[in-house]
Amino acid sequence: MHVVDAVVADRVDSRPLSAAILAVGSELLTPEKVDTNSLFITQVLNDLGIAVAFKSIVGDNRAELTAHVAHALGRHRVLILTGGLGPTDDDLTREVVAAHLGLPMHEDPEIIAAMEGRFAARGWKMPAVNRRQAQVPEGATVLANPNGTAPGLWLAHDGAVIALLPGPPREMKPMMAGEVRSRLLALAGDTRLHRRLVRVSGKGESAVEEIVQPIYSRWLAQEPPIETTILAGLGQVELHLRLQSPDAERAGAALDLAVGELTMALGQDVVSTDGRSLAAVVGDLLRARGWWVALAESCTGGLATSRLTDVPGSSDYVERSVVAYSNKAKVELLGVPAALIQEHGAVSEAVAVAMAEGMRARAGVDIAVGITGIAGPGGGSEAKPVGTVCIAVAGVQTEVRTFRFPGGREMVKAMSANWAIDLVRRALREG
Ligand code: ATP
Repeated sequence: MHVVDAVVADRVDSRPLSAAILAVGSELLTPEKVDTNSLFITQVLNDLGIAVAFKSIVGDNRAELTAHVAHALGRHRVLILTGGLGPTDDDLTREVVAAHLGLPMHEDPEIIAAMEGRFAARGWKMPAVNRRQAQVPEGATVLANPNGTAPGLWLAHDGAVIALLPGPPREMKPMMAGEVRSRLLALAGDTRLHRRLVRVSGKGESAVEEIVQPIYSRWLAQEPPIETTILAGLGQVELHLRLQSPDAERAGAALDLAVGELTMALGQDVVSTDGRSLAAVVGDLLRARGWWVALAESCTGGLATSRLTDVPGSSDYVERSVVAYSNKAKVELLGVPAALIQEHGAVSEAVAVAMAEGMRARAGVDIAVGITGIAGPGGGSEAKPVGTVCIAVAGVQTEVRTFRFPGGREMVKAMSANWAIDLVRRALREG
């Protein structure tokens, strides 16, 4: 192998290094468990300008794992493995990597001492099976694991680097972001991935795509190119901008320009360009004005309030919330006239307005929200099908809108909560 030369060449011509990730563990091949570790690992690698060429999930199977390790090291200079470092017979990662590289293993007395210490701190004796976790391939560096028994391992071999990390995310993450990242830094050269996130609300994915596609196709042609990914969630769209460059200042300036262009094109629909969530943005707007908000929720069952209160410090501006599910509750707790419900139905703009205005008056707040709708699957009619939701915001003035959300119960609730918070944002920006 001439991988050493290739690594040196990489440094000279600063081509990005490519990486492979192997998530090891048969549980990750069941419908119950999803591999999330590789996402975190990818983020750390990408931030260093190292692209991930492929990732695989491999069961606790010696032949499969050996084949994947061989494939990865044959093509890529960075290999990160996670999982399979435990004490039991089916934890094969250490053994398979050592065997593939032809490295003998020896027991590391320091690891044994550290593990015995961990068990002793809990008043236990270390089980004999744990000795397996102290096996270290020749030449490997041991990466301390303050959050668990299995230490990580770092190997530089034939120009490639290999990290073996534990499976539990709380053990893997600090190791990847700490020791492994700083070791990869030496290899990665000056190129870094620079990114921005633009959050958009009030438009669907295709509507946003139609507006921004002509803009970002132009960025792809520039040098260095800005890559854009569009991600749609429930009621929100995220635009991720990425640019690889060794020059942080120029990269920052190019991304600022790009974000500016998007903001011009999308106007009021841009929620944030600094990573803040919609709820956090609304919180900041409320705090800046010294305003309090209260919510009257029916079909969302408190979800909008839950979102708002996910933000630390939300007690500065969330005054109260009422889940007024029944007509009786709407009358008793919010002062909605029973005759109004009779006349228009509980899901109507008139009732949403009465909920918001009743809430505003009773709570004595600056701005209040009323949400009433049909989340389904039952309860719809031809005139008001499932997904019909009326949302009112009573501030300096009262605004109300009727939506017809697609999807099932969960989606209707999520979209309603999102729109309710977004309508507060729009009212605060306008007012
Ligand atoms: P341990 O010493 O705890 O046995 P290990 O390195 O052997 O660590 P595994 O036994 O493979 O790790 O995994 C332990 C747990 O960590 C799994 O049950 C799972 O909950 C979690 N885990 C493992 N791999 C992943 C992954 N790729 N993504 C998310 N969670 C994972």
